[in-house]
Amino acid sequence: TETRRPLMAGNWKMNLNHLEAIALVQKLAFSLNEQQLEAVETVVLPPFTDLRSVQTVIDGDKLKIGYGAQDLSPYQAGAYTGDISGAMLAKLGCSYVVVGHSERRAQHYEDDALINAKVAAALANDITPILCVGEGLEVREELRHVPHCCDQLDAALRGLTAEQVARVVVAYEPVWAIGTGKTATPENAQEVCGEVRRRIAETFDQATADRVRVLYGGSVKANNIAAIMAQPDVDGGLVGGASLDAEEFANICRFPE
Ligand code: PEP
Repeated sequence: TETRRPLMAGNWKMNLNHLEAIALVQKLAFSLNEQQLEAVETVVLPPFTDLRSVQTVIDGDKLKIGYGAQDLSPYQAGAYTGDISGAMLAKLGCSYVVVGHSERRAQHYEDDALINAKVAAALANDITPILCVGEGLEVREELRHVPHCCDQLDAALRGLTAEQVARVVVAYEPVWAIGTGKTATPENAQEVCGEVRRRIAETFDQATADRVRVLYGGSVKANNIAAIMAQPDVDGGLVGGASLDAEEFANICRFPE
């Protein structure tokens, strides 16, 4: 079977200024050795205003830590006040960008068509989109979580080639588990991550599905990540709150030990 390199991505959300960002990246780099960074791809996703500083410290110290942004515009340039393009992020060395996080879907009314355009914009700029899907509590209680997540997935990947889809990272983030301390069980995570992969195999092909990394996100901590990572279709974590603490995030990245 395909070997997918585990990925731990820290979504800082709207936290840490550029000076605090530098300090956290340095602490994180100090906490993880070369072997650990080789075994588990480690990525930080700071606010836009921190990216130049994060780039400078990572490049300057040749740190094996990746970085990216939390959102991008679907457009390349133009009259879009307040927005940031994929081209700008690529120029800053971003390898990843979060697309369709539940907070943006809810707070900025991002719909499936916009998220589809943002995924395409990321890929067009050679940035890996971390596409978030996930159900709210009501949908979960009605046991409609699998079709709900597959519908979000279909919409976000519409029009892409299999080659493009293989480069996408999908993050399954049940909304009821984000920032609530309520982690999905490893079986809950596996169910949806497995169905996401199956759906990609159906729509595209099995080889593509085998290459796509599927992450779990929602109250991931150092003490629950190993059981989640033991699931066959979970390839990593999208970590919010716990990524703001260098030692905790380093411990998450050290899950194989
Ligand atoms: C997130 O928002 O991507 C997330 C998973 O947050 P937390 O880990 O804080 O639940």
